[in-house]
Amino acid sequence: MALELPESPNVRREYALQRSWQLKQKVNPYLESSKSILYGFALAEEYKARRTAILNYFGAGLQEWNDWRWQMRNRIRNVATLTALLPMTAGQREEIAETGRTYRWAVSPYYLSLMDRANPEDPVRMQGLPSSKELRDESGEADPMGEAFTSPAPCITRRYPDRLIINVTNVCAMYCRHCQRRRNIGETDRHETRARLRDALDYVKENPEIRDVLVTGGDALLLSDQTLDWLLSELHAIPHVEIKRLGTRVPVTMPMRVTDELCAILAKYPPIYINTQFNHPKEVTEEAKMAADKLIRAGVVLGNQAVLLKGINNQPDVMKKLNQELLKIRIRPYYIFHAKNVRGTRHFIPSVQDGLQVMEGLRGYTSGLAVPTYIINAPGGGGKTPILPQYLLSLDDQEAVIRTWEGKVIHYPNH
Ligand SMILES: *Cc1c(COP(=O)(O)O)cnc(C)c1O
Repeated sequence: MALELPESPNVRREYALQRSWQLKQKVNPYLESSKSILYGFALAEEYKARRTAILNYFGAGLQEWNDWRWQMRNRIRNVATLTALLPMTAGQREEIAETGRTYRWAVSPYYLSLMDRANPEDPVRMQGLPSSKELRDESGEADPMGEAFTSPAPCITRRYPDRLIINVTNVCAMYCRHCQRRRNIGETDRHETRARLRDALDYVKENPEIRDVLVTGGDALLLSDQTLDWLLSELHAIPHVEIKRLGTRVPVTMPMRVTDELCAILAKYPPIYINTQFNHPKEVTEEAKMAADKLIRAGVVLGNQAVLLKGINNQPDVMKKLNQELLKIRIRPYYIFHAKNVRGTRHFIPSVQDGLQVMEGLRGYTSGLAVPTYIINAPGGGGKTPILPQYLLSLDDQEAVIRTWEGKVIHYPNH
């Protein structure tokens, strides 16, 4: 059914102007509400001031700050240090100390510099600092995805026909409070041994259908340059491995890890795809942009896998702002994961309705490039399952009844 369009050019222009006015009305509420969404580029001065305060505490300078080894050595992991850097009530201190006895925590000085000093509900703080809610959650499972049952060889998780994961470390620059693999975080930092990584490589070599290898952890970029160079060169030499992927949160939690030396290594083994995990526009900073720029210059393709987290990003406007900020630094939103039912993370788990509302608020309202796929991971290793608002209302041999992003219902012929 064709639209009845007016004939005369003037009337057509008038029609387009009216439509433009309508579209403006659709974006205005967002433009208004997004004024109250905090984002990294607008906070640059504040972040810098906090960086100075943290450096003063450690008696260090910018050169140390920009050295990722310094950041790792000085991860904040006890209440005494934290108290010196972030004003906290006695109750908050006790909460962190008590929770920390059950679940390890650590925050890089960089990530700490993104935290609001006054607001305990700050999205960066919520991701980085323990809450007693973690202890009160007894409903979640340690391993809801059944990773322990999908490992055919050391370090490997295989759940799909043509690709697999190699878990290389349990180390992270910051232990996310919503971590899906917190069972692996344990109490000590531990990289996998070369012997076990060799076993994993042998499995890949022996299975020629594996064309895509995802190296993750923990944080893949917390391996040393030397180990990464070795592992990537080994993967690069396997003829059937078409692409290599790295899972890392360092662009978010410790962007200074992305050094020229690291980039020179990555540049040797194309094609490399890196997926990271920005969850809030506050995390998209000048430093994150510099890291993204360097990786892109090394030929790496960047994507983002956000986790939908209650109180952090489960509102359509926040997720829209996040994805738009990411596109500005050339990181393409790839997935939004529904938070999994991991023990100790109950307070972060949103409803599926929240996820659908977020998706509904993206499609059509903003660039298609800013619209990732919303995924529920089926428990027990069932796999990533895409979830979409209903755009196909019915389908038979005669017609598809579809709903547009604005909610117009259209009968689309199917014969
Ligand atoms: C997520 C995941 C992958 C990669 O999935 P894509 O949809 O291709 O990004 C591969 N293996 C396992 C075990 C995974 O969990």
